[in-house]
Amino acid sequence: MKYIGAHVSASGGVENAPLNAKEIGAKAFALFTKNQKQWYASPLTGNSIEAFKKNCSDNGFQPEMILPHDSYLINLGHPETEGLDKSREAFQDEMIRCQQLGLKMLNFHPGSHLNKISPTECLTRIAESINIALDVTQGVTAVIENTAGQGTNMGYAFDQIAEIISQVEDKSRVGVCIDTCHTFTSGYDLRTKEVFDQTFLKFEEIVGWNYLRAIHLNDSKKELATRVDRHHSIGQGFIGMELFELIMNDSHFDNIPIILETPDDSIWAEEISLLYSLIR
Ligand SMILES: [Zn+2]
Ligand SMILES: [Zn+2]
Repeated sequence: MKYIGAHVSASGGVENAPLNAKEIGAKAFALFTKNQKQWYASPLTGNSIEAFKKNCSDNGFQPEMILPHDSYLINLGHPETEGLDKSREAFQDEMIRCQQLGLKMLNFHPGSHLNKISPTECLTRIAESINIALDVTQGVTAVIENTAGQGTNMGYAFDQIAEIISQVEDKSRVGVCIDTCHTFTSGYDLRTKEVFDQTFLKFEEIVGWNYLRAIHLNDSKKELATRVDRHHSIGQGFIGMELFELIMNDSHFDNIPIILETPDDSIWAEEISLLYSLIR
């Protein structure tokens, strides 16, 4: 079964996210558990946690279909001690918030070397950051998202993701989220059945299907291999409809959250029903 949703607003409190997801006909959703543009947030209150859990269960959202995303400020591969420490602390806090909410995953962009350390050293720092966070939490899987490779962002190549995973101690609590826009602009074509199969064969060989925990489903405003991260609405970008039809009819993408991060939230409900209509 396919669980399609979107990255919905949690404004006014995390407990509002499942309600916003229900409103657009979602069966999965993503959210920020704190303001994603700020370092610090006050702890979640007991009331907010209870209301979140109740709204999820009342509306049929199991924790496995909810994919929280961490703050954009966090850089787990930061080249400098101060930035790295701050990032690691904030990431642990986000993992703990997920644990408090009864959630199973935290999705994050791996990190950036900022041209101050080598890409290899950056990957090692990222893996070490994950190890530290897994040590202080229980039951939450760190879900690495592949990136478009913009600037000095790491994690745009499948072998970089595999390298991070290889250095994570508890392999049962590390996973991968594939963002279709990032995959395409980082240089893996997805536009036809033939290239889609080639790309996911590489994913299988280098990373492995067993690590796939979620999909971010986005079209792209930029062309193949431009290394730029600009999402577009489903079918309106350079990737086109065939990819979405392929994903909807491929059982590798069953029973994991499939999350829209498309720019026009006024058409999310339409996009979700369009995607379900593609299932043959
Ligand atoms: Zn994404
Ligand atoms: Zn993106």
